[in-house]
Amino acid sequence: MDKIVPFIPYGKQNITDEDIQAVVDVLKSDLLTQGPKIQEFERAFADYVGAKYAVAVNNATAGLHLSSKALGVKINDRVIVTPITFAASANCIRYCGGNVIFCDIDKHSYLLDTGLLREKLNSSPPNTYQGIVAVDFAGYPINLEELKSIADDYGLWILEDACHALGGYFIDSKGETQHCGNGKFADIAVFSFHPVKHITTGEGGMITTNNDLLYEKICLYRTHGITRTPTIMCEKGAWYNEMIDLGYNYRLTDFQAALGISQLKRAKVSLLHRRRIAQKYDQAFKSIKGIIIPHVADGYYHAYHLYVILVEDRRGMYDFLRKNNIFTQVHYIPLHWMPYYRNINNADGLLPTSEAYYQYCLSLPMFPTLTNDEQDLVIQKILEFLR
Ligand SMILES: *Cc1c(COP(=O)(O)O)cnc(C)c1O
Repeated sequence: MDKIVPFIPYGKQNITDEDIQAVVDVLKSDLLTQGPKIQEFERAFADYVGAKYAVAVNNATAGLHLSSKALGVKINDRVIVTPITFAASANCIRYCGGNVIFCDIDKHSYLLDTGLLREKLNSSPPNTYQGIVAVDFAGYPINLEELKSIADDYGLWILEDACHALGGYFIDSKGETQHCGNGKFADIAVFSFHPVKHITTGEGGMITTNNDLLYEKICLYRTHGITRTPTIMCEKGAWYNEMIDLGYNYRLTDFQAALGISQLKRAKVSLLHRRRIAQKYDQAFKSIKGIIIPHVADGYYHAYHLYVILVEDRRGMYDFLRKNNIFTQVHYIPLHWMPYYRNINNADGLLPTSEAYYQYCLSLPMFPTLTNDEQDLVIQKILEFLR
């Protein structure tokens, strides 16, 4: 414990020499973008999560936007979103002109409360809502089998924001393993490769789906709405292309894809590190009065993007740890409290569980290269604060 600890963040990327070499190789090649690495990354990623298709994009926010557009979100649609998530989970609906309706979380899992969701749908006239954005918050896989049965009863689509949950899974009612983003129950899923996430490409994201039509739309909107597929164009000719809809440029570069491929090779091992770190926190805190550790039900394989504890004096602990160069975080300030969303039909007291959760939540350092000594220090300081 003699070595000087500069500071310990809550999350951090891990870039190896092999990663760097993979990027350099592409930088020295002919194609920096729209080359072969994109498809290679997409294939490897689809296989990793068990989905039919994967589409690489320049970040997950763009991926959520493309997904909302492909799902047909339009002005005055109403979409249900959890308030305990990053803003992009809801903003994607607003980009398409839809309305975001927040539904409270479950007090144990911190995921969308499916009981409340059913009540909400039951007490509304038919066709009030069009879809659900489901977030695997912190890496805890939401039970999409259950959610799908609700969605089907009310004719809703499901967009899974799996940005926290690469490698996570749950066991369904038939005993089968259902990986986050595998497209079995959700129509589309989106992952992020921001540096704090499970794997990184600097900025970057991936959309997965099993649906042929949605896949085609997402590919089209990723590149300006321009197609080169002869069967859907009027004229032929090798130079020829047609812009058949209004799209965007949401592409990832090839050198980022090369980094992604290299990172993905370590994803499983990195996830095991995260789970080992979580286990050690669990052991240290489970019998400490004043700390509530993450709850994980049987049959759920948590991916631990975040390790969130609840503590009475959250502000005090945050400040104390910060003074000791341990930079924890708060995930998240409820979205309905953001000035932007407050201004569109959202008041205090609407979502009591989310609001109570926010009073106490604190995300501890959680990343695969967190050392034993560093984690010991975090635990020691937390216990010191509570004494
Ligand atoms: C990180 C994150 C995003 C956005 O990802 P970017 O790649 O930074 O655009 C969206 N939703 C959730 C839940 C996230 O954690």
